Amino acid sequence: MATSDRSITRRGLIGGGSAATVGLLLEHPDVSQAAKRRRPRPPRRRQADVLVVGAGAAGMAAAHAVAKAGRSVIVIEARERVGGRVENHDLSGGEIVEVGGTFVGPTQDRMYALLREVGLGTWPTYDEGQTNLLLEGKTTRVSNTDQSTYVGALGLVGGLEVLNVFPQIDQMAREVPVGAPWTAGRAQEWDGKTVETFKNEHFQSAESRSLFDAFLRILHGAGPNEVSLLFLLSYVAAAGNETTPGTLNSLIGTTGGAQQDRIVGGSQRLFVEIARSLGSRNVVLSSPARRISQDGSHVTVTTDRASFVGKQVVVAVPPALCQRIEYEPLLPAVRDQLTQRFPMGSYAKVEVFYPQPFWRDEGLNGQVVGEGVIGCSWDSSPPDGRPGVMACFIGGDRHRAWNRQNLPTRRKLIVDELVRYFGPRAAKPIDYFEKRWTGAEMWSRGGPTGFAAPGVLTGFGEQLQTPFGRIKWASTESSDYWIGYMEGAVRAGQRAARQVLADL
Ligand SMILES: Cc1cc2nc3c(=O)[nH]c(=O)nc-3n(C[C@H](O)[C@H](O)[C@H](O)COP(=O)(O)OP(=O)(O)OC[C@H]3O[C@@H](n4cnc5c(N)ncnc54)[C@H](O)[C@@H]3O)c2cc1C
Repeated sequence: MATSDRSITRRGLIGGGSAATVGLLLEHPDVSQAAKRRRPRPPRRRQADVLVVGAGAAGMAAAHAVAKAGRSVIVIEARERVGGRVENHDLSGGEIVEVGGTFVGPTQDRMYALLREVGLGTWPTYDEGQTNLLLEGKTTRVSNTDQSTYVGALGLVGGLEVLNVFPQIDQMAREVPVGAPWTAGRAQEWDGKTVETFKNEHFQSAESRSLFDAFLRILHGAGPNEVSLLFLLSYVAAAGNETTPGTLNSLIGTTGGAQQDRIVGGSQRLFVEIARSLGSRNVVLSSPARRISQDGSHVTVTTDRASFVGKQVVVAVPPALCQRIEYEPLLPAVRDQLTQRFPMGSYAKVEVFYPQPFWRDEGLNGQVVGEGVIGCSWDSSPPDGRPGVMACFIGGDRHRAWNRQNLPTRRKLIVDELVRYFGPRAAKPIDYFEKRWTGAEMWSRGGPTGFAAPGVLTGFGEQLQTPFGRIKWASTESSDYWIGYMEGAVRAGQRAARQVLADL
């Protein structure tokens, strides 16, 4: 990919500049003293074949595909940076850690293809040694490569339940058509119950229930009592590609699963490079789309400072954010209702820094799964292991309780729990960084994904992808494969690009 347009500064695209300043500079690259004296000016009006609202993974993938097809495109982004739920955080010394979407894994083909196109490599997530569990007040250890260790860790009943019910979930997921779960033969039955009901029917042991809860909190940022069974099954079905069916293990696994690889330079870099290739004038930052109006010939996106006119628009924001845009004419009732029923998960990612990843010396891979505040963690250290970085994920009800505390208490809760898992060396981190996607990020409202309660997919699900005139919907929530992941976002963006190109 061409990366010749150096007028987009790396700092501007990644973030960190003043929102207003960076946005204005990008929108008006030739601002001069003379121009300033002429204020106030009428709102700017710009045109392109295709407009894209949202510069997350879906929006950038859509814009990239439209530009490659030789059509003009303008991306309109609310934040002062690109990437959306994907963001790099700079460490001193040039290293970065990711505070949002990070990992890629097998069958996430579109992500690997884009990475190759842009010239970015991947490297394996650290995955040597044992995983810590905290279930029913007890810490135990299991091996990621030997499932029978779950019998020792969870007890005979709990261990066997995990070994039997997880594959049963995979089997049920195979009955769910990817991209159209509402058409499954048992869609009404499965969308009529929560994952909690399924859990209580299939797991008898307190330990296996607790393990299942922990996975669910991290998968969706929601507890099993909040999520439809059909939604979970569709998520599992989607965790594959056209030749490899999805499984629960591909969602939760490290080597061989969705957490297998990390992206050199950090995941946000992919979308920064795509933005750079589009050119600075064509990625308008700090400009929330307030209104989208369409008529027989055009669509207009209005921001606070400008209006943009196109023949087609890709709205690449999750349903919960689509809800905050005004539409003229009004959205079809069922689409409007969908946006009221697809909440974002309750979610935070906390990075705790140590001089080195000391857990590796003790035969531990840095991964935990547990019933405490931290639902899951991964060793997120840079390739050279300096510093040691523990990435902790907090979801669902655990997030809501933790998020109510002040910063010192939140930090103490996390560090105390790491001590419980990793011993006294975890007590003295050299740094701590938290990203609260729910409550502190108005352009995400949560993470890692939007999810559906019972009745939503069967009642409203087909609206996830159904275009409304000149508006085509993207965002990972509207994908076929890998819903909720960067891969899903890229697939959704590329599908929306095909839809707009067909209608130009
Ligand atoms: C903590 C965390 C960890 C994760 N880990 C992983 C992982 O390891 N691997 C993985 O594959 N996925 C992971 N995910 C999920 C992944 O990040 C998302 O699925 C993906 O990035 C979603 O991309 P998107 O483009 O669909 O949506 P978004 O990233 O939400 O992009 C939407 C964009 O639209 C903008 N926007 C919103 N409203 C407006 C408006 N009115 N006008 C203009 N712009 C607007 C937003 O600012 C945003 O930039 C994680 C997510 C989180 C939060």
